[in-house]
Amino acid sequence: MEQAFKRTQILTNHLLQSSPSSQTLSSNACLSYSPPELSESYAFDIKDMRKLIDRHNLEERDWLFGLMKQSKLFNPKVRGGKVFVSPDYNQSMEQQREMTLKRIEYLLEKGAFKGWLTEKGEDIEMRKFAGFEVCSIYDHSLFTKLGVHFFLWGGAIQFFGTKHHHDKWLRDTENYSIKGCFAMTELGHGSNVRGLETVTTYDSNTGEFVINTPCESAQKYWIGGASNHATHTVVFSQLHINGTNQGVHAFIVQIRDADGNICPNIRIVDCGHKIGLNGVDNGRIWFDNVRVPRENLLNSVADVSPDGKYLSSIENPDQRFAAFMAPLTVGRVNIAISSVYQSKVALATSIRYALTRRAFSLKQNDPEVLLLDYPSHQRRLFPLVAKTYAMSFAANYLKMLYVKRTPQSNKIIHIVSSSFKATFTWNNMQILQECREACGGQGLKTENRVGQLKGEYDVQSTFEGDNLILMQQVNKILDDWPRS
Ligand SMILES: Cc1cc2nc3c(=O)[nH]c(=O)nc-3n(C[C@H](O)[C@H](O)[C@H](O)COP(=O)(O)OP(=O)(O)OC[C@H]3O[C@@H](n4cnc5c(N)ncnc54)[C@H](O)[C@@H]3O)c2cc1C
Repeated sequence: MEQAFKRTQILTNHLLQSSPSSQTLSSNACLSYSPPELSESYAFDIKDMRKLIDRHNLEERDWLFGLMKQSKLFNPKVRGGKVFVSPDYNQSMEQQREMTLKRIEYLLEKGAFKGWLTEKGEDIEMRKFAGFEVCSIYDHSLFTKLGVHFFLWGGAIQFFGTKHHHDKWLRDTENYSIKGCFAMTELGHGSNVRGLETVTTYDSNTGEFVINTPCESAQKYWIGGASNHATHTVVFSQLHINGTNQGVHAFIVQIRDADGNICPNIRIVDCGHKIGLNGVDNGRIWFDNVRVPRENLLNSVADVSPDGKYLSSIENPDQRFAAFMAPLTVGRVNIAISSVYQSKVALATSIRYALTRRAFSLKQNDPEVLLLDYPSHQRRLFPLVAKTYAMSFAANYLKMLYVKRTPQSNKIIHIVSSSFKATFTWNNMQILQECREACGGQGLKTENRVGQLKGEYDVQSTFEGDNLILMQQVNKILDDWPRS
């Protein structure tokens, strides 16, 4: 009752003030303003909170943030003695792409990706997660371009390939002397990967695979890194052996030479400007009977002998494809984690705004009320903060599940990573919208990030498995799950 009265008073006062005030303007309120991020004090130890929330590799995270703050490439700005970094979204698409590449090259030179593909074990996996989380907090294009290179292209070599692929490609991928991309989606088929129309045949006379785009709907589409920078790709294609379609397989293809020229019989066209993520060069690719050596088939699950016999211990093409794809869950894990960090960025900004922004006063000449003192504003933002904490802990659980994976836990990881990816990214979009509105007009200014992040992160509900399709898969697996 008391609250309702207070609220009515604020509104009444607002109406009473609507006639021109006889008071002269005072600059005091302006002069006393100080952004909260420069003066805020905490009733808890930030280090303890970080241990709880970020959990691991805190020093490495700080080192990486430090590298960003030191370089002009990351657009540092000094405010009140503190350095803030954030991309300049006002740049053209081409400039954003070049900046993303330069940022990667700078971090590479400083050793930020050391061991990412050549070392094994929990330590390096946790270090990779931490580094990648820092990159994701900075910019989604940086996160995505790195993700395509290290986790999709690099992950395909690691998980779909065998020893000779690892020996040949992983070191050069880690040091970025080759730049990889991942060509799965086609114009005609995205979610339905088994329907891909690219066709590969085997020529036993030369010991080569021949990869072809037979029709317009088979052109590879949205391929991150393909338009400007990638030198190699892993191509997903139907494999036809002696007239039998053995289903979708993955092949390594060089698409550019070291000077950046597109290789013969390959055509690449840009996908154009997007609503966000313009620092990533997404491209379309056509293959005109491109020949690659037999060894370029990633053969963890199936192989073709030199004389052209198809070899696999799994008979059913659908089961074979499922077994083939099963280990590549890391992209979804990363996306789930990064979407929670974006929710944190947006909530931190909107709550800070609500702690400084005043609107309407209870009584004439009283100070105006802080936005966060309005119950409606609290009810808007606090449940989202609580949800984000819960998702942050859940994301840490997912990370541990992934790092401690075994062949037996692949199915569980598939279920958890798919459902978390869908839930967290959907939730992130809702949070970004609420936070954008909670910041009023300031939420629309790109420099303040919150509004811009909506365009940057919208794609997370579509790539690495459309959210709805992922949830359908989870639903089906759980439906079929044996009940004791
Ligand atoms: C910026 C960006 C970057 C990308 N990067 C890459 C990349 O590097 N490499 C790559 O291979 N791909 C990439 N993709 C492609 C991405 O993975 C696909 O867009 C995604 O898999 C969805 O496929 P689609 O776009 O064909 O959508 P569709 O499959 O056509 O789906 C469209 C809609 O239909 C719904 N739908 C589809 N099937 C069903 C069904 N059975 N029942 C009910 N609803 C259904 C979906 O939920 C969705 O809402 C990228 C995409 C974007 C936008």
